[in-house]
Amino acid sequence: MSEQIDTALNWAAGVIGPRSESPRLDAELLLAHCLGKPRSYLYGHPEDSVDAGCWARFQDLVRARLKPTPIAYLVGAREFYSLEFAATPSALVPRPETELLVERALDLLSPGRATRILDLGTGTGIIAITLKIHCPDARVTATDVDPACLELARANAARHGTEIEWIESSWYDALGANRAFDLIVANPPYVAAGHPFLTEGDLPAEPEIALTPGPTGLEALEAIVAGAPRRLDADGWIAVEHGYDQQAPVAAMLEAAGFGAIECREDHNGLPRVTTAKIVENGQPSA
Ligand code: GLN
Repeated sequence: MSEQIDTALNWAAGVIGPRSESPRLDAELLLAHCLGKPRSYLYGHPEDSVDAGCWARFQDLVRARLKPTPIAYLVGAREFYSLEFAATPSALVPRPETELLVERALDLLSPGRATRILDLGTGTGIIAITLKIHCPDARVTATDVDPACLELARANAARHGTEIEWIESSWYDALGANRAFDLIVANPPYVAAGHPFLTEGDLPAEPEIALTPGPTGLEALEAIVAGAPRRLDADGWIAVEHGYDQQAPVAAMLEAAGFGAIECREDHNGLPRVTTAKIVENGQPSA
């Protein structure tokens, strides 16, 4: 049995409706994926028929969407900072909030300077790779504790022809003792364990380790901030993404660790989301 493009989309949007904020878009992305065409093709060919194999695959994806499974995992890709990245269930789906983190990190980098950047808990690798693309002179190192994430991140780097140093490590643990950086950047897990938010939308399908660091939600940020002064050279910066209600505790931990120029920016929803700070006391000579 086969269907027309528009009837297939109407059916899928209806089925997905109760489980997604964007059922029509989801249906279009999944059908375009099955057809191997861009989404715009669907608008130009609403009456084309979808062959039986494609219709069957599409129905399977629509059912998987209801589990829920994020669209990015179903189609194996997600756009971030106008670049396409592979996405798998090993890592968090790239989010628009994290574009703000990249933007802020880029603001901190002086053009033409061979900056050393460390991205902690890289996941899909989007932060490290986007920074390297926009700042080709930078030397970028990225860590993740999960080898499956590093494999995904490596594939994404290869896709964009970027060279990054990948290290399997829990935060700073496996970095050589004398490694120093000019910028540390991270989108760590920051949702408190047991928070009702974790049961909403597609979050149940994403890796818990990438979302939840522990009971307070601040554990990973604390480890990253506490370890940063030892890893930053004089005038080094840190940029972290955090929860909308974590601006004050993050500022406090940065101050306690010897950072100044602490500045928080809001995401596209008007929520405090990214904090940057400069090291002022790390026991290193300042010139
Ligand atoms: N902001 C993410 C969300 O909306 C949380 C990501 C994270 O913990 N780094 O789910």
